[in-house]
Amino acid sequence: MDFAHLALARDPHDRLGLHRTDDAWLEDRWTRSGARVLVVSGTRVRPKDGALEWVSADEAPDGVRVLLGERDATTWWAVITGPEAAKEEQGQWFPLRGLLALFQEQSLGGEQAGLAPLVFHALGLAEWHWVTRFCPRCGGTLVPRAAGHELVCEQCGKPQFPRTDPAVIMLITSGAPGSDDERCLLGRGAQWPEGRFSTLAGFCEPGETLEDAVRREVLEETGVVVGDVTYFGNQPWPLPSSLMLGFHGRALTEEIRLDDDDVTEARWLTRAEMRAQAEAGTLVLPGGVSISRSLIEHWYGGPLPGSW
Ligand SMILES: [Zn+2]
Repeated sequence: MDFAHLALARDPHDRLGLHRTDDAWLEDRWTRSGARVLVVSGTRVRPKDGALEWVSADEAPDGVRVLLGERDATTWWAVITGPEAAKEEQGQWFPLRGLLALFQEQSLGGEQAGLAPLVFHALGLAEWHWVTRFCPRCGGTLVPRAAGHELVCEQCGKPQFPRTDPAVIMLITSGAPGSDDERCLLGRGAQWPEGRFSTLAGFCEPGETLEDAVRREVLEETGVVVGDVTYFGNQPWPLPSSLMLGFHGRALTEEIRLDDDDVTEARWLTRAEMRAQAEAGTLVLPGGVSISRSLIEHWYGGPLPGSW
């Protein structure tokens, strides 16, 4: 079974990390013809005619020059500018969340989907630059180095590195595996419309293993006790800075208790119920490029209709 969420990571670029501090090398690559640059205003980019626009180095504005890496014998860059352009041209610039549909439509090998890892890299760094304004130790001014991958304090010299926050996302099941009675647990977020459901998810806390984070989040959100937890796969999700780590968990109890404000409704569904409700539109599942969709369809055993 081919999982759509993997389309977002199918063709990773060579990040060329060892060249990030080599100024002469960077300048040579920047000025070579064929370099392609994604312009980021704050944390937003501007698609044109349903595709992201990559400009030449000559056309790029001033800003923080980020080396993304090399792919297909091309050097890929981002330039992160202030948010002014996105503010002036409202409605034309989109954050990463607004671009997922673009990747999804072309997730069967289109050029846009193939470039997703570069876009995730660029916008993940832009989000980090956006929220990391001052040195957390002394409050000093931060300046970029290492081709946009480090920020260093002008006052005390302490470097800051890009953050990635581990988040767990899990499909919880109960009953004999593979049987008609086996059921999986889905939840509806407090802000979501009626019928929209997904796998449960949450952030890993300091000092906690990923498996314990799965058990704790499911217990907090639904009151269900989880035993065995196994790894499924992962997905970069810089919205703004997560890495989604997918798991499958086996429930030890089935009683649902909703004490947490994050989840307002939770359902146990057999495969037949899932199919019937998805077809009727009373159950709307996450979009194709999310790891949540892959977790659900992996358990279900094939594609399901509808998405949000
Ligand atoms: Zn400092």
